[in-house]
Amino acid sequence: MSRPVLATLDLAALGNNLQVVRRAAPAAKVWSVVKANAYGHGLDRIWRALSSTDGFALLNIEEAILLRERGWKGPILMLEGFFHADELPLFDKYRLTTSLHSNWQIKVLQDAHLQAPLDVYLKINSGMNRLGFMPEHIHSVWQKLQGLTNVATVTLMSHFAEAERAEGIARPLARIELAAEGIEAPRSLANSAATLWHPKSHFDWVRPGIVLYGASPSGLWQDVANSGIRPVMTLRSEIIAIQTLKAGETVGYGCRYCAQGEQRIGVVACGYADGYPRIAPSGTPVLVDGVRTTVVGAVSMDMLTVDLTPCPQAGIGAPVELWGNEIKIDDVAAAAGTVGYELMCALAPRVPVVTL
Ligand SMILES: *Cc1c(COP(=O)(O)O)cnc(C)c1O
Repeated sequence: MSRPVLATLDLAALGNNLQVVRRAAPAAKVWSVVKANAYGHGLDRIWRALSSTDGFALLNIEEAILLRERGWKGPILMLEGFFHADELPLFDKYRLTTSLHSNWQIKVLQDAHLQAPLDVYLKINSGMNRLGFMPEHIHSVWQKLQGLTNVATVTLMSHFAEAERAEGIARPLARIELAAEGIEAPRSLANSAATLWHPKSHFDWVRPGIVLYGASPSGLWQDVANSGIRPVMTLRSEIIAIQTLKAGETVGYGCRYCAQGEQRIGVVACGYADGYPRIAPSGTPVLVDGVRTTVVGAVSMDMLTVDLTPCPQAGIGAPVELWGNEIKIDDVAAAAGTVGYELMCALAPRVPVVTL
């Protein structure tokens, strides 16, 4: 391996995080959400470490087929259902559970020629206003599904817009309760935040994503620091050059950082083309040679620069953790004005990945 940037995936942490979810929702079954190539971790690399899950939830048919081809025989939930009628033969062949959020999908399902009926997740729009039927229409849609030969079991599903806050659960739950009146069906509502923090929302199947990868659904690591979850991904590199700036000298594009006095600066082989956020400002935390310090100046395509003042011993080849166990991805994301989800998903294909 030449360029020193590297992502390592701690598969034991993934298994640990699934156990944290099990403890948080002991009565519920778990859909492990592995959409977006397992939040950037690589579905093929990580799914086996989650194979004690009850099911996998995702939304690309290619990813669902990959799981089947690798030998996963348990349930697979397609979170957005099918996008076009021509996918139905694949849903049938690979036995995929489909979300149903629109009338056009119901029509397509009704008209399809299947070898066997499909399990469906009937999506309730509880206030997110992206996908799903309005609560007042659920009863009639439910009735219709009961009459379709292509439908096996029906589960009620919804997704919270603001599950980090108690108020973000109460109103949608009330809407779901209204929609579900008189309907005997299992329910699946809870994402990571609801799974961790709102037991009332657990019902039959929870759907955690981000928490499995060891980051906070709220964007604040403090919120999960005592939950027992551990980061799965560590992004590392090394110092490849050192500059000593004099007072008034600047570093990097746009001369965005100016030294106040003499200052050692480390150049790290990691940039936005590796998935590190370009908008991370000076002050974003980073670990150099085991010591916390900060990014200084603009992040460029292949490099970023760090303040070596707190770690005078750090030289060429000193190890750098961009995020991982010590530098939480949530903290980097917060500094860059985004969430850990986005950073994980943006890990660039050029970064080599090893699993532990
Ligand atoms: C992404 C997603 C989840 C998981 O959300 P997290 O916040 O990562 O736990 C659950 N349900 C649906 C429908 C989703 O799209």
